Amino acid sequence: MIIGIDDTDSREGMCTTYLGAVLIGRLEEAGFTVREARLIRLNPNVRFKTRGNAAIAIEADGDLEEGFALACAAVEELAEFAGAETNPGVAVVGERPDPAFYHRALQDFCTIPEAEEVLKRWGARYQGYKNGRGLIGAAAAIASDLPDGTAELLAYRDPSCWGTPRQIDEESFFTAEAATFPQTWDTVDTINNTVVCVPHTPDPVLFGIRGVSPAWVTLARSYLETERPVLEQIYRTNQGTDAHLVEGVIGRLLEGRSYRLDGTVAAVPVTGQGGHVSLLLEGADGATLAAMAYEPTKGFRDIVRALVPGDEVSVTGSYKGGSLNLEKLQLRAMADAVTRRPPLCAACNRRMTSAGRGQGYKCRHCGERSAEPEVVTHQRSLICGWYEVPSMARRHLAKPLCRGTGPTPEPCPEQ
Ligand code: ATP
Repeated sequence: MIIGIDDTDSREGMCTTYLGAVLIGRLEEAGFTVREARLIRLNPNVRFKTRGNAAIAIEADGDLEEGFALACAAVEELAEFAGAETNPGVAVVGERPDPAFYHRALQDFCTIPEAEEVLKRWGARYQGYKNGRGLIGAAAAIASDLPDGTAELLAYRDPSCWGTPRQIDEESFFTAEAATFPQTWDTVDTINNTVVCVPHTPDPVLFGIRGVSPAWVTLARSYLETERPVLEQIYRTNQGTDAHLVEGVIGRLLEGRSYRLDGTVAAVPVTGQGGHVSLLLEGADGATLAAMAYEPTKGFRDIVRALVPGDEVSVTGSYKGGSLNLEKLQLRAMADAVTRRPPLCAACNRRMTSAGRGQGYKCRHCGERSAEPEVVTHQRSLICGWYEVPSMARRHLAKPLCRGTGPTPEPCPEQ
């Protein structure tokens, strides 16, 4: 059977992955064989998410009714029912269904009736609590396919510590990264010299190590010195795979979807209030798109600022509120970085000045005129290639460059 669970947490506490880890222990105690635990990230742009829009799926052998009862009991005991936006969902199926609903929940938006409709079609046992919105994530996690999966080892705190500062030896996290990168990533942000895999929220997570396989995250974990976790669980995940991206075309983007698209830099990038950098891109048919590198993306903004009109780029990110929030950028072909200034006077070798709009240039000393400016070509600070936001600003689903840059995602069926 596959048990899907979602929406058990609130900003005040709990975490669906912790609930899953507790449930796995109970299933094993009850004689079930647990084959796999999945941590599935869904559309990062859904309004109702608590943090990272995660859902879980547990594949186990045993009695389906008993599995369903144990899952519901764990949710009823541990979910943050008091949270206004906590609407748990539990679903159990005998076999993994086709992944169409997962792909929609990952790249698009779904409704609660749609989730119930697919669960009925699959012959699932399911239970929605409160408004039952968690059934969307529960059904999507059940139906997930992972052609390119990664692993995350999550360690959980003793409940008596929840809400208090986490006791960790930061240096040990840098040691773990040094010993296992690029087979693990986002343990620390080496550019900004900060630990990124330890949350600051009041939930049960102590740390989460991401990597290519259970063996690598376990190796990285062996270097960490922290308060004693009470529980650890390795999940198979769609994190770090770019599974949320669809191919997009500037001028034909839908709100709340995430894209990979091509464009030409149409203007000098502008740094706005708060340090946010806006990059105007033009598509093949002349439509334009603002691509944003917000302040938390730190040094990535310098890459964006170093682009010049005419540069050809591919970008990835979510389209929200009419602009694209950049996750990665490929500089494919570089234009000349040029500035124009009044030319030197051919007669007296002094710098000319503008003779007025559209009037060319004039030498104030000898009266000589010139129609053309002097064009100065500057050395570019960038080279062609891929650039990404730092670890501390990376989205769960974004594929880090240390995992490679291909393959490109499937075309979006709606476009
Ligand atoms: P955490 O990361 O801490 O587990 P969360 O960010 O996963 O929290 P949830 O509490 O799971 O947030 O809330 C997300 C809600 O949005 C869930 O009810 C889930 O079923 C629903 N949901 C997920 N994907 C979609 C989608 N594509 N369309 C509509 N609703 C969705």
